[in-house]
Amino acid sequence: MAEAGSFADKVKQQADIVRVIGEYVPLKKAGQNFRGLCPFHAEKTPSFNVHPTKQIYHCFGCGQGGDVFKFVMEMEKCAFPEAIRIVAEKCGIAVPRQKERSPEERKENQQRSVFVEMHREAQTFFVKQIEGTLEGKAARAYLGDRGLDMDAIARFGIGYAPSGGDALLRHLKAKYNEKLLVESGLVSRDQNGGRLFDRFRRRITFPISNESGKIVAFGARALGDDMPKYLNSPETPIYSKSNVLYHMDRAKEALRRQDFAILVEGYMDAIAVARAGISNVVASCGTSLAEPQIKLLGRFTRRVVVNYDPDTAGQTATERSLSLLLEHDFEVRVLALPPVGDKKADPDQFIRERGKDEYLKLLKEAPPYVDYLIARARQMDLTTGEGKLRAVNFLLPYVQRIPNRILRSEWATRIAQQLRVDEPVLRAALSKAANERRSEVKTQPELVGRAAKPVERRLIRMLAEAEGFRQELAKHLQNAHLYHGLETEKIFAALVIASLSGQPVQATEVGALLEERDRRLLFEILFEEANEPTWEEAMSCIEALQHRQAERELADVQRSIEANPAAPELRGLLEKKQELMRRLAAAR
Ligand SMILES: [Zn+2]
Repeated sequence: MAEAGSFADKVKQQADIVRVIGEYVPLKKAGQNFRGLCPFHAEKTPSFNVHPTKQIYHCFGCGQGGDVFKFVMEMEKCAFPEAIRIVAEKCGIAVPRQKERSPEERKENQQRSVFVEMHREAQTFFVKQIEGTLEGKAARAYLGDRGLDMDAIARFGIGYAPSGGDALLRHLKAKYNEKLLVESGLVSRDQNGGRLFDRFRRRITFPISNESGKIVAFGARALGDDMPKYLNSPETPIYSKSNVLYHMDRAKEALRRQDFAILVEGYMDAIAVARAGISNVVASCGTSLAEPQIKLLGRFTRRVVVNYDPDTAGQTATERSLSLLLEHDFEVRVLALPPVGDKKADPDQFIRERGKDEYLKLLKEAPPYVDYLIARARQMDLTTGEGKLRAVNFLLPYVQRIPNRILRSEWATRIAQQLRVDEPVLRAALSKAANERRSEVKTQPELVGRAAKPVERRLIRMLAEAEGFRQELAKHLQNAHLYHGLETEKIFAALVIASLSGQPVQATEVGALLEERDRRLLFEILFEEANEPTWEEAMSCIEALQHRQAERELADVQRSIEANPAAPELRGLLEKKQELMRRLAAAR
């Protein structure tokens, strides 16, 4: 992808892949490579490898692999040009002005920055409203009742969208055309007449920033009884609900430092917790957590305390989020807050009523998810066999998602004790569940595992890195058609062409010419521990291939003879057979 001489190529030459990937994944030196836990699949033992000199990464578990740009594209969910920019910035390489980008990219980038600019202007507008208008005063009073003073309002950029219906529209109209206004999500178009109006009206606004702190959307709470109570920005070119966690931009440092996150449901909860001095809090801003949000969080920590609302929706959301977090190998605890008086309390209410010290204390004591789930199961009617079965069935899906066998076994004992069910019966059910999990894994994208023969693997490796004799070796292989018909034929073909050119072989460039499964196999081979290649070894590998080629031909000839013993060309076939057998015998 990085064309020679291009800016991308320059960045790639200068970028240290170990350092860039190391910012996302803790890496340890292992032999000539670096190794860590794969960010693309859940695992306990590291199978994710980074090669410092070939500048590639490869996961032996899930088969993901590529160069530094591919990695950043996967992690940041961004396009190639954006990945170049990110890598360049991380490595302190000056990014050229936009004129070097393609017209489409430039247009897209410009459009994105226009949307970001519109959100910035809307933010200023909303803040002015809450600070200086009569309506804004009512909003401040409402927030004051919920314990948010002017300091807090300023700190979290809380604003107000007035009731008029077109105040923001009038403010933005002079600068932006209708199409952009509607696409930004700040303005809506009425269904029949096509008239434009503000999306947020008579609502308190909460700016939602992306990870780097740019406002990309708003969440808005109705001031009166308007429905819905909470209204968010729609999906736009700069905002996707499932990619953003509220407060992430401010939580990053604390997440790294404390190495755990508190996950809450809404912005009011996140604000309340952050104001209590606990900065490592993020909100999913929707009832349940989405996979990209988990990946985003996983870049900072793998330990989470889930503190969702205690209502039924919150409980369901907790349980759904738990499943996902477990699948991604997070260490999860659950904080279920006790009622305040006779009211079930969300984090915001709880901290207001009982204070932050009480909250901190409960946070420290938050039990592992196992205990939370067992406690939930015990609330079911356990006096009948049917009731117990329901309780066990409630727990089974979670057990299924635990990647670790020992942990699963510990669960069995605890569930059996706590629910008073027969342990062997329970274990049978659990192992059945575990098997079902395995059958799920099978349906995942094809895993690596095509066993190319050692000789082929060795030759591929030599073609990739034996600078001294690669070209010579490629000629041998090509002239004798030695790799035709092998399962690795396409890999050989690509490497032979690259080697004959006399230029150094770039793993990612060869990989880019191959189908995904061949690309995986190539990377797998490149990461194997291996000795320095020698010409003698190359020759003995070539002989082995010649031998196999002769065997294959012999089998073909034999089949032809048997298929039609009366054919006129029988004589020729028999001679060929003799000659092949002589060759094979001589080689022995
Ligand atoms: Zn992986």
